[in-house]
Amino acid sequence: MARIVMKFGGTSVADLDRIRNVARRVQREVAHGNQVAVVVSAMSGVTNQLVRWCTELSPMHDAREYDAVVATGEQVTSGLLAIALQDLGVEARSWQGWQIPLRTDTAHGKARIQNIEGGELIRRMRAGQVAVVAGFQGLAVDNRITTLGRGGSDTSAVALAAALKADRCDIYTDVDGVYTTDPRIVPRAKKLAKIAYEEMLELASVGTKVLQTRSVELAMNESVRVRVLSSFQDTPIDENTGTLVVDEDEIVEKETVSGIAYSRDEAKITVRRVPDRPGIAASIFGALSEQNVNVDMIVQNISADGTTDMTFTVGKADLPRARTALAGLRTLINYGEMLEDPDVAKVSVVGVGMRSHAGVASTMFSALADKAINIQVISTSEIKVSVLIAAEYTELAVRALHTAYGLDAV
Ligand code: ADP
Ligand code: ASP
Ligand code: MG
Repeated sequence: MARIVMKFGGTSVADLDRIRNVARRVQREVAHGNQVAVVVSAMSGVTNQLVRWCTELSPMHDAREYDAVVATGEQVTSGLLAIALQDLGVEARSWQGWQIPLRTDTAHGKARIQNIEGGELIRRMRAGQVAVVAGFQGLAVDNRITTLGRGGSDTSAVALAAALKADRCDIYTDVDGVYTTDPRIVPRAKKLAKIAYEEMLELASVGTKVLQTRSVELAMNESVRVRVLSSFQDTPIDENTGTLVVDEDEIVEKETVSGIAYSRDEAKITVRRVPDRPGIAASIFGALSEQNVNVDMIVQNISADGTTDMTFTVGKADLPRARTALAGLRTLINYGEMLEDPDVAKVSVVGVGMRSHAGVASTMFSALADKAINIQVISTSEIKVSVLIAAEYTELAVRALHTAYGLDAV
């Protein structure tokens, strides 16, 4: 007998048939004598629609009201799954974030989980009741609903697994594990039996959406055993099912590059003819951070006439706020103009083996040059190299790199 958390993403609960399918899976785990908590996402497409409505009404909408709107998708699926389970004769009860409560900070739209009151859930699970928890949402100190950022149900699941001291956290999705790259772009991508927390963290942070970045961070810190697997495959779970996220020393063969990721969620901003003197970068990035805009890649060029061009990337959703912040600086710093380019993509190669192997970046640059893809910005970390390119070349770049690093399945 084990205590498990099962998380089902948007496509796994996309309609009533799929919710019935999820209920049958949960029923099987209960029949094995396990104590089960389930975390659900909204039906696929629903959160996008809710976000669109907020943005259409007002691009600079109040983040508290955004959360009140976008959290509703998960309320629907948690109730529906509880009904489907009851219909199968499985005792079940739905839980919204505020009912548990799952406490977060007040960073609306991207709140961080601070504490989960697990006592009542554990008591009921011991008595045989399945807890169906609405993912993605929590409660701030002022008793307002918060959401955890896009893809946040993964984080709800891992945090719940830690709070309930679960033996397993199974993340059911629409692919059967973590691959060397997105299998929808590269059909020859290979499924990884295991991936190190650190690699998964880096891949997630540069765009691999199969797990939200914070969920991996939390799993690593709390030693939660996370398995990514398909909700559409009906074979019993064994050691080969899906992908296990594990400590680096559990992985015997370490590849130099283990995965390739891409993200189309960023936009490029160039501030032209910025005075080249101390304190200017601090003013620009200070103003952006005051507007809660995260900056990712940054380049600054030297120029001869005492001014410089500064290029950086921000989340596409943050563009209106970045624009406002920079417009507000115009009188303070006398810069030339601000240019925006939303049609960019960041492509990254990730692998812990990079620490001890040279030449990873040059292989990347040659492979992109062979396809005549221009690199606009470069950034690196110990186990990652990222480049910014025109969005139209994303798939071509990912495929070329997958081949260049010898990752194609034979
Ligand atoms: P869910 O709704 O279940 O949370 P997501 O859409 O958030 O599912 O994540 C699953 C998707 O992640 C897959 O459909 C796949 O297209 C994408 N993906 C991107 N990179 C990878 C990768 N390296 N391995 C597996 N899936 C990936
Ligand atoms: N429904 C939310 C989203 O689409 C959370 C999730 O699916 O994990 O971002
Ligand atoms: Mg997801």
